[in-house]
Amino acid sequence: MLKANAFTKVACPAAIVAGLAWALWLWPAHFLWLYPAAGALFIWFHWSGEKEVKYIFLFLVTAAGFSLPKLVPGGDSFLGMAAAMVEVLCLWLLFFALARAESLRRAAGEKLAAGEAEAAVRIGNLTDELARYRLHQESTLARIRDKGALAASVQDIGAASTPDEIKERLENLLKKYFPGAAIELHSGAPRDFADTWVAERKIPLLVRNSEADSRFPRGFFGAGQRSMMALPLHLFGALVGFVRACAQEPDRFKAEDLRGAELFCALAGVSMENIYLFEKVRELAIKDGLTGLYTHRAFQTRLEEEILRAARARTPFALIMADIDHFKSYNDTFGHQAGDAVLKVVAEVLAGGVREVDFTARYGGEEFALIITGAGKAQAAAAAENLRLALAGRAFSFGGRDARVTASFGVAEFPSEGAVSSQLVRAADERLFRAKEAGRNRVVYE
Ligand code: GH3
Ligand code: MG
Ligand code: MG
Repeated sequence: MLKANAFTKVACPAAIVAGLAWALWLWPAHFLWLYPAAGALFIWFHWSGEKEVKYIFLFLVTAAGFSLPKLVPGGDSFLGMAAAMVEVLCLWLLFFALARAESLRRAAGEKLAAGEAEAAVRIGNLTDELARYRLHQESTLARIRDKGALAASVQDIGAASTPDEIKERLENLLKKYFPGAAIELHSGAPRDFADTWVAERKIPLLVRNSEADSRFPRGFFGAGQRSMMALPLHLFGALVGFVRACAQEPDRFKAEDLRGAELFCALAGVSMENIYLFEKVRELAIKDGLTGLYTHRAFQTRLEEEILRAARARTPFALIMADIDHFKSYNDTFGHQAGDAVLKVVAEVLAGGVREVDFTARYGGEEFALIITGAGKAQAAAAAENLRLALAGRAFSFGGRDARVTASFGVAEFPSEGAVSSQLVRAADERLFRAKEAGRNRVVYE
């Protein structure tokens, strides 16, 4: 590189000058070709980037332009002088044109470089921005995934069908959101100072660092209770239990965590309320409000089921229809409320007098129906007789006066006396009617 530079800067111009001087020496009369040759050299120097050499040549050629016409024989003619001057002028013009082109090229290069620098800064900024955007996107995606998991957990709690399932799912949810923390759930009265604090103030408790918490004296907290969240569990506005999350390290839980845990507890409470209300509605649909026995509709359903079951198992079962004797007179004499009280007691006696597997319903008004499963007519008649005796032996008191309540019973057997529900009910009803006709307070099964 250094050699090539020395060649273009020193050796090459020196050889050209020597060559020109030699040519002038040989052909002095033809000095005018010196100028176009110098012009060609300028162009060559310009392209090879040798500015300094160009200046030297310009100076030399200008000096030659003024002196050669005088030195060369016949060169000082007017034409010779004028031609030399014009050629020198042309050389200067060429020189300035080349210089101008050079400065324009340099300016364009500088502008390009400035543009490139600006673009580089912009690219840098955009790269930074892209990196920040990617980070933001990742955290947003993580948050969305988090929210998705939360929604799934919320749905999971909402889909639980028993209070125990809710408790288990709430515990799992808290364990998932506070990994490594000890989670505890319990129902009933406060068990320690933290539960008492929560129960008294009716707000959740957050202890960031038990060793620096001025609300509680030192020694209140156990070894694994450096950080703690204690929350109440409510059911229909009443405090029914407590939730606890503890960690060994300080500052494990933040206010935000407490809000999250509070939300989970509220959700668990609402889910429990839902289960309770659902059970209540179901019970209202199948249980009679006054006596607590199954309703007529529930009886019909159960009778159909029992028919199918007994038909499959080829075993009999019996139906007992019972009706309180002269019930209207209790109402008329002692009032409707006394009548209701009688209904309740009769229901109690009937339901309490049969097995768990049997089914007792309030058929309507003061009539009752009992399904005695897996029993033939004789066994069912004996059961009806026991019920009749139990009721007749029961002492009632109306307006300070002792009284007795009796009922009449009709018994029919499946499938021999009724293969379908309506037939079986009619058969039992018809015998109940005959019991009434025969003087009441009796069982008819034939
Ligand atoms: P019998 O011995 O022939 O059965 O006479 P009874 O008076 O028991 O029969 P009746 O069918 O004439 O009367 C039934 C009464 O039961 C009429 C009705 O006022 C009363 N009743 C029906 N449902 C209720 C109820 O839910 N509460 C009260 N207090 N009375 C009821
Ligand atoms: Mg009656
Ligand atoms: Mg009746």
